[in-house]
Amino acid sequence: METRKLYYEDCHLDTFTARVLECEAVEKGYSVILDATAFYPEGGGQACDLGTLGDARVLDVQEENDRIRHLCDRFLSVGTEVTGCIDMARRFDLMQQHSGEHIVSGIVHSLLGHHNVGFHVGTERMEIDFDGPITQEQLLQIETLANRAVWENLPIKCWYPSETELPNVFYRTKKALPWPVRIVQIPGYDSCACCGVHVERTGEIGLIKLLSCVKFHQGVRIELCCGSRALALTQKIFEENRQVSNAFSAKITETGAAARKVNEALAGEKLRANSLQSQLFDKIASEYVGCRRAIRFENALQPVQVRELADKMAAFCSQWAAVLSGEEGNYSICIVSKQGDVSAPGQALKQQFGARGGGKTGFFQGSVCATADAIERTLEAL
Ligand SMILES: [Zn+2]
Repeated sequence: METRKLYYEDCHLDTFTARVLECEAVEKGYSVILDATAFYPEGGGQACDLGTLGDARVLDVQEENDRIRHLCDRFLSVGTEVTGCIDMARRFDLMQQHSGEHIVSGIVHSLLGHHNVGFHVGTERMEIDFDGPITQEQLLQIETLANRAVWENLPIKCWYPSETELPNVFYRTKKALPWPVRIVQIPGYDSCACCGVHVERTGEIGLIKLLSCVKFHQGVRIELCCGSRALALTQKIFEENRQVSNAFSAKITETGAAARKVNEALAGEKLRANSLQSQLFDKIASEYVGCRRAIRFENALQPVQVRELADKMAAFCSQWAAVLSGEEGNYSICIVSKQGDVSAPGQALKQQFGARGGGKTGFFQGSVCATADAIERTLEAL
């Protein structure tokens, strides 16, 4: 006997009673078949419903030859009546996403002729793959039209056309389907073969927000979210933007320009800092004119700066120049020689302190874990 599909009769039915027809132990619990159910089974890109049947939790729902199998965590006595409760927050969210997806796919199809070739609902957003390109401009147009479909609060019609009626019904489909086919129609926006559960009217979908559009295979992948998810995401983004607005003392609608301005100023400051540092390094290096060797400790230099300073100092030293920077006991080091090689100081630091690093003739860069005094003594003893 096929299970009566209450979810197709009333998409908002969250509580129902039904008779247990079968209950058999399976690997992960008990497989239960009822004479009727409001639990939607996984299918058509829509996840199954979760909830309870009597005292049992419903962990999974699958359709099998028009019979709906509920995977429960407890045994239910055959012949008894049970009350089923659907996790309606979850179901409503999934309906909002799925109905929103139909609207967007229908608009893309009628506007650009692209087909929906993939659809996935994730935990935060969903993805639709299309077999053709979509520009940023078109994306905005699609989003506006999709939301207009919501404002119009259109009834969503789901039905099985008769065998004679079906050939005259237009619907999007991935392949030709044999009768019977369930059609989900959103007047003026979409008609599609689908077995999912949808909201009754488009107004229930709430905001439809397209998030991104990237090249994917021969077409594009659009990320979007609808309803409660779109609201939650908008609230989160708004709060982030409010903080950016406060940090930049910019109007909430002008944070992009403020961020660009700060980036430009920062780039200018970086140039200025580099130029000043270069001048400072020249001045430091000039202190070593005519020296044989030089060892210098500096605060908070990046490895690239350690190298730059060592390079400049080495130009005035007849043997080598070593620059170290970091915290006591853990230094970044660079030794440079313009005349010869630096294998002697490099090896000494490796042997004495297990320094890491290497380089080529006339150049050693790495790190050494020792105190400044110990490093200085070792290098000066060479
Ligand atoms: Zn569908």
